Amino acid sequence: MKRFTQAILLLSVLALALSACAAQAPDSGKLRVVTTIGQIADAARIIGGDLIEVTPLMGPGVDPHLYVASEGDVTTLQNADIIFYNGLFLEAQMDNILEQISEYKTVVPVAESIPADRLLASPIYPDEHDPHVWFDVQLWRYVVEAVRDTLMAAEPENAATFEANAAAYLAELDTLDAYVRSQAERLSAEERVLITAHDAFNYFGRAYGFEVMGLQGISTQSEASTSDVQQLANTIVERQIPAVFIESSVPVRTVEALQEAVRAQGHEVAIGGQLFSDAMGDPATAEGTYLGMVRHNIDTIVGALLGE
Ligand SMILES: [Zn+2]
Repeated sequence: MKRFTQAILLLSVLALALSACAAQAPDSGKLRVVTTIGQIADAARIIGGDLIEVTPLMGPGVDPHLYVASEGDVTTLQNADIIFYNGLFLEAQMDNILEQISEYKTVVPVAESIPADRLLASPIYPDEHDPHVWFDVQLWRYVVEAVRDTLMAAEPENAATFEANAAAYLAELDTLDAYVRSQAERLSAEERVLITAHDAFNYFGRAYGFEVMGLQGISTQSEASTSDVQQLANTIVERQIPAVFIESSVPVRTVEALQEAVRAQGHEVAIGGQLFSDAMGDPATAEGTYLGMVRHNIDTIVGALLGE
């Protein structure tokens, strides 16, 4: 939150410097926005439209917990006018570089614009918050608003367009949120159990009434232990849970080990499909957008748990 405020203050300085920046860039002269995860890039593209250039550093299948900025990324970051990242320690390996650049550039940790009382604590690091805020569509509204406000401050001449684009998108988010709720309601309260490769879905669980269990912790930096796998296998057998899920940005082997452990007890659990957790899908597909990713996830979860 503090850094967010600082970033907003820095914007006035940036606005003065913008004409100089534009002169340096032989290209379009558009505002250059760089983001970490694709979900944020998607929001920036929708709000900024043709008026800005958006470059996400992390593509499909990339795990933001482990991502280390390459030399090329550092250049991209240094050439940006605005940098948006999730924050809340999601991009754990990039914190230092982002901190350094924030001393002379607009760097906004968008998830840190969410009121602290709406954030969940990290189950592993007591002083940290769970960074996976995009799974609660209502929380994602704050992120969209932070992107909108930053762009409006950076380019006041285009503020009306940014505001209108954001308003239309926020309405789509409300429709999406209602859709996720209606899909979740196809399951009984007892059927709403979501088991995934890593502990990314706690906001999803809170918002849409699912009990959530992950094989690995809140970050993929720690591996699941044999006893974690065994414990979860016992739960699956006892409660007759029909399906578990893999994630596009986490290797499948942990979930396969879980499936094996369940099989060893004479039961079967299906792999209910692939969810997009920390990374979005291929840009050419519906899942390459935030709206499509959220729809895909809820459809996959509900379909598999109903055995459709
Ligand atoms: Zn994660």
